[in-house]
Amino acid sequence: MPAHMLQEIASSYTTTTTITAPPSGGLQNGGEKVEKKSLYSEEDIRPEMKDDIRDPNYEDEEGPAPELEYVWRNIILMGLLHVGALYGITLVPTCKVYTWLWVLIYYTVSGLGITAGAHRLWSHRTYKARLPLKVFLIIANTMAFQNDVYEWARDHRAHHKFSETHADPHNSRRGFFFSHVGWLLVRKHPAVKEKGRLLDMSDLKAEKLVMFQRRYYIPGLLLLCFILPTLVPWYCWGETFQHSLFVATLLRYAAVLNATWLVNSAAHLYGYRPYDKNINSRENILVSLGAVGEGFHNYHHSFPYDYSASEYRWHINFTTFFIDCMAVLGLAYDRKKVSKAAILAKVKRTGDGSYKSG
Ligand SMILES: [Zn+2]
Ligand SMILES: [Zn+2]
Repeated sequence: MPAHMLQEIASSYTTTTTITAPPSGGLQNGGEKVEKKSLYSEEDIRPEMKDDIRDPNYEDEEGPAPELEYVWRNIILMGLLHVGALYGITLVPTCKVYTWLWVLIYYTVSGLGITAGAHRLWSHRTYKARLPLKVFLIIANTMAFQNDVYEWARDHRAHHKFSETHADPHNSRRGFFFSHVGWLLVRKHPAVKEKGRLLDMSDLKAEKLVMFQRRYYIPGLLLLCFILPTLVPWYCWGETFQHSLFVATLLRYAAVLNATWLVNSAAHLYGYRPYDKNINSRENILVSLGAVGEGFHNYHHSFPYDYSASEYRWHINFTTFFIDCMAVLGLAYDRKKVSKAAILAKVKRTGDGSYKSG
């Protein structure tokens, strides 16, 4: 890429909206009754939405947790997928080179469908996208098969707004396994359903493309997550059917799933909390590597409206690089970035002391 182009990408954020940090939670009243605080007091930062900001007033009700209700269909399917993926690992060395490339591309594109699509665009509205980019992202998102964008975003907004409570679909207080995959294998906690219903999802309901994906989700995911990735290597460069199915489809799908799940499990349990020590999410470089830039998770929960999901831009963050390239092409715009001053103020106020400047 020519130097002037890199320069253009790097300097093009200056036009983005600069926003200030939200007030800290309502828990510092010296033992007095906790006052109800407004969730979000900045003027006009991201008028598109507010329902991904942590609600400091919401707490779990007292009493025993309800019994787990297993969803056997999901347990069996997830079990089979992972057995198939493990067998796929043994076939990796005997794949054709084109198949390796195909897996790498499919992994990255479907990953972007989650990170740049379902997450940063549709759940958090951290930037805006023009139609061709949206079409690409909805296809990429369907390739990843992690529920349709509408459902993903509803779960995800609940995860931010009610973090680490029973209304958080993958509440990390229930342990690594539950927040990683267990939450998909049992019926949702009643609080998830109750609070999830109240979230404002009007922006996504109004988006035809998102509703189109929801309507045709099952044929879409069968085609894009299973049939196409198996048939292409088999037909196009004579890969064996077995290698195509177990490596390009099952192993690749399981790998993208686990990389995404690590954001919910590992990045809520292991790592430093330089921005806010009062929340569970953490900075985890290894998760960022696998999840194309989503492991700066203490930052992300502190500033969910930042399009980079990180204080930094291209540092272990392929998703931000991708969005910036789309911006150069004019397909992405209005990228929201938190100002350095707001970040430093937050670090000083609530950080755990691990922040390294520079
Ligand atoms: Zn999280
Ligand atoms: Zn998020």
